[in-house]
Amino acid sequence: MKTLVYGLGESGIAATHALAEEGLDVRAADANDGERLRSTLLELRVEGSLAAGPEVLEGVDRIVVSPGVRPSDPVLRAAEESGVPVVSEVALGLELLGPGVRVAAITGTNGKTTVADMLRRVLETAGVPHTVAGNSWRALTGCLDEARETGLLVLEVSSFQLHYMAEPGFAVAALLNTRPDHMDWHASFEEYRRDKLRVFGGQGPEDLALVSAGDPVGSGAAPGLAGAVLLIGEGDTAVWDRRLFLRGEPVVRADELSFAGTHNHENALFAAAAAEGLGVERGAIRDGLLAYRLKPHRLEIVAEAGGVSYVDDSKATNPAAVAAALGGLDRIVVLILGGSEKYTDFSEILPHLGRCRAVLCQGEAGPRIAGYLEDGGYGDLVERLRDLGSAVSRAAEVARAGDVVLLSPGCASFDQFAGYAERGAAFARLARELAGRQGVAGR
Ligand code: ADP
Repeated sequence: MKTLVYGLGESGIAATHALAEEGLDVRAADANDGERLRSTLLELRVEGSLAAGPEVLEGVDRIVVSPGVRPSDPVLRAAEESGVPVVSEVALGLELLGPGVRVAAITGTNGKTTVADMLRRVLETAGVPHTVAGNSWRALTGCLDEARETGLLVLEVSSFQLHYMAEPGFAVAALLNTRPDHMDWHASFEEYRRDKLRVFGGQGPEDLALVSAGDPVGSGAAPGLAGAVLLIGEGDTAVWDRRLFLRGEPVVRADELSFAGTHNHENALFAAAAAEGLGVERGAIRDGLLAYRLKPHRLEIVAEAGGVSYVDDSKATNPAAVAAALGGLDRIVVLILGGSEKYTDFSEILPHLGRCRAVLCQGEAGPRIAGYLEDGGYGDLVERLRDLGSAVSRAAEVARAGDVVLLSPGCASFDQFAGYAERGAAFARLARELAGRQGVAGR
């Protein structure tokens, strides 16, 4: 049996190592060529090809694919046509992991990393050994031994990873929300929806399925799920009277937590329910949530100057995350939108624009978003700026004391930066420079 690992980023490299360690026959390939890939191939010491096309499938029995490779890729198309099975790197990891490791899997358009991180914090507080992997964390195939040792895996899974995964049968599976995103990867929203629901595939009645009452996809699918379903955000697991309730019991008051926003309270309920499903006591769930601090670039105040707060929400790479940010703020906002183009529908932000003093559209997708907002009757708010730097300067001119300048771009960052973290850091630096010029220290 020969396995082709296709796509030699972090997860492809880890998958190649894992397969080779198992003594399996492996070929490594990438559609691109270049210095980094050549040295990667040399270090992998397996048969390999770069600038690979469909010919690379010769003699291959299955493909392990990296999440960055789109189904429209010529090699994947050819594999589909000739019936060669394709699995994601995460699916391979689960297969190699074998039985005996409980898995709590988290997916959703927004909040995956936060919920996985909250659950990690709760498990740490409870002293429960665990491993965290997938999507924004380490590649699963790179930490199989650790996952086997701890016996518990917290797995963040994207729709790309679920697309090539059959019936994983997770002990706990959470679908946080399903909003338009990644339409440059998926063939349609319907496909994206189906892929997200794969997180519940293979579950039995002893497994836990967590869905959001506010998510039509998750709550719509709930009656047909085989696992024990818990609806979050409704009934006895929801926020009532500014308290977070889990199955009717109060866990924590919202004002005791270090993080704000309805979406983050819902995230906390998902993490709490998952932890409870894994056997964690209520006290540790409460203490873990109390100790939790949001990761950077998610609604993070990075500078304050002249009564204006500069908030870095660079991780908001789709309109639903922008809507969550605007919905959670109770101040006037100068909003910076735009980045690389994914052709996403921005209608979800329209109901929140009432709190904006200005909407500065920048970057590759800036003109399209500006045009869309102008056509929708928001022309008074909209300004077009070339890039993030000019948008931050303009925001400082427009903002008044008491306002928030919010970078919540609703787009990926690759038009100007290597990733969302670099974009957030650039925003913070620009904001602090402005703060310095005004004689007020940034923070
Ligand atoms: P993911 O890993 O799914 O990309 P993150 O936790 O990194 O999610 O958050 C990404 C962005 O989405 C941030 O801007 C964050 O403020 C926002 N966000 C987090 N949780 C939610 C949620 N439940 N609903 C909407 N937006 C959210």
